Amino acid sequence: MRFYITTPIYYPNSEPHIGTAYTTIACDVISRFYKQKNYDVFFLTGTDENSNKIIESANKVNKKPIEYVNEMAELFKNIWKNLDIEYTKFIRTTEDYHIKTAQFVFQKLYEQGYIYKGLYEGWYCIHCETFWTTSKVDDSKLCPNIECRRPLNYIKEENYFFKLSAFEDKLLKYYEDNPDFVYPDYRFNEVVSFVKSGLQDLSVSRKYNNWGIRVPFDQDYSIYVWIDALTNYISALGYPFELDLFDKYWEVSHHMVGKDIIRFHAVIWPAILMALNIKLPKKIIAHGWLMYDNQKISKSKGGDIFNLKEIALSNDKIKISALRYYLLREGSFGQDIPVSLERFKYIYTSELSNNIGNLFSRVLAIIEKKLNKYVFKESDFSYIQNSFINERLSNFDKELSNFNYSKAVLEILNLADYLNKIIENYKVWEIKDKNLNQIMYELVYSLVVLNKMLYPFMPFIANNILEQLNLPLESLKWDYTIPDSFNIKERKILFPKIENVLA
Ligand SMILES: [Zn+2]
Repeated sequence: MRFYITTPIYYPNSEPHIGTAYTTIACDVISRFYKQKNYDVFFLTGTDENSNKIIESANKVNKKPIEYVNEMAELFKNIWKNLDIEYTKFIRTTEDYHIKTAQFVFQKLYEQGYIYKGLYEGWYCIHCETFWTTSKVDDSKLCPNIECRRPLNYIKEENYFFKLSAFEDKLLKYYEDNPDFVYPDYRFNEVVSFVKSGLQDLSVSRKYNNWGIRVPFDQDYSIYVWIDALTNYISALGYPFELDLFDKYWEVSHHMVGKDIIRFHAVIWPAILMALNIKLPKKIIAHGWLMYDNQKISKSKGGDIFNLKEIALSNDKIKISALRYYLLREGSFGQDIPVSLERFKYIYTSELSNNIGNLFSRVLAIIEKKLNKYVFKESDFSYIQNSFINERLSNFDKELSNFNYSKAVLEILNLADYLNKIIENYKVWEIKDKNLNQIMYELVYSLVVLNKMLYPFMPFIANNILEQLNLPLESLKWDYTIPDSFNIKERKILFPKIENVLA
């Protein structure tokens, strides 16, 4: 069984921030989860380097564009590594193999009549590299993009267009036949009504400006970044020159995207693939925005609260683990998620430190002090209900398979609560006879299950637990047979007090 998951490729004209990390962590959690289930997983991320904005950003710091993107790509890789992101491949759209694929795609679309040269007349924002329809432009003649608002230019120029309008019926038919194509369903409904309202042909070239990928048959133009960027999902798999990976993974492809770029992925990209006669991706998953003070979080809005670069480069693994957990345990995946430092502290203390951390520490302390670090299975389970544990695990599996991250986390918390109650109800710390061994065995057995569920969210913590329980890496696998005895090792605190974490 196979699984292919992608993040969007990120613009390297600014450093990765907490919002970028949210998408990437969400993919990493899913990727690790499928690996636990012995899937053959391909996880792709990378940088989208051909935009003209790169020239501006490079100029500002007196660098050549290529030097600038080289450095930024390294920064992205470094930050992902420190956030425990375990990608399979990091693609950069300035790499040769990608350029060849993008040009191949453009050429093929042209030869088949899906790309044609036409005259464009209207409003254009140089900064956003975007053409705006008259209906979107108000009297101010400023760029309608609220994050831009620069003056627009009225231009009249020849350009290449993609015949998006030709795909309206085919797309609608596809949506109808594939009701799971976009997750969540309310985003799918938006996509369907957008297509129903009518599709316009899309400008897919820009005047060549010494940066970007040239149109193969017309050196005066470069391929517009969107068509170039979208092809990364297939160029990374070798399409069309080396098809081994492509044949292996494409049919199980999942694109994780922010809700703001859903149309590119659920409308334009499928139309391009249809034109190329390539099967459509299996699923597009759209997440909401992280919100700070009711606004989309960005470097200037709330970015200082969760300064990603600082957190990542500090390599403080507890804080990083907690951040991974916090971002995905909140809200309902797909919706906007309000975040704040107060809430982070609260979740850290109540769920990680007092619930999960405390549970591990209580169990291991008793085994260390009273059982000489050793427990073994003496009889059938008589304290803990195995069916309860199995149900948590299978619910967790179901929820995460459906990208319901926060519901999956609830199963973790449910299990931890249950085990803490077992300790309380049986007053385990008072047991002095031989019953102590069996109940402690059952508790450690349950902790191994709990640890499997913690792993995709907090791999560092899960590995730390493995060490303490003296278990192999295979114990994180879904099909691992839990041993009949445990010889535990040195106990360590999993989640120190929040003051020490934030200090
Ligand atoms: Zn603009």
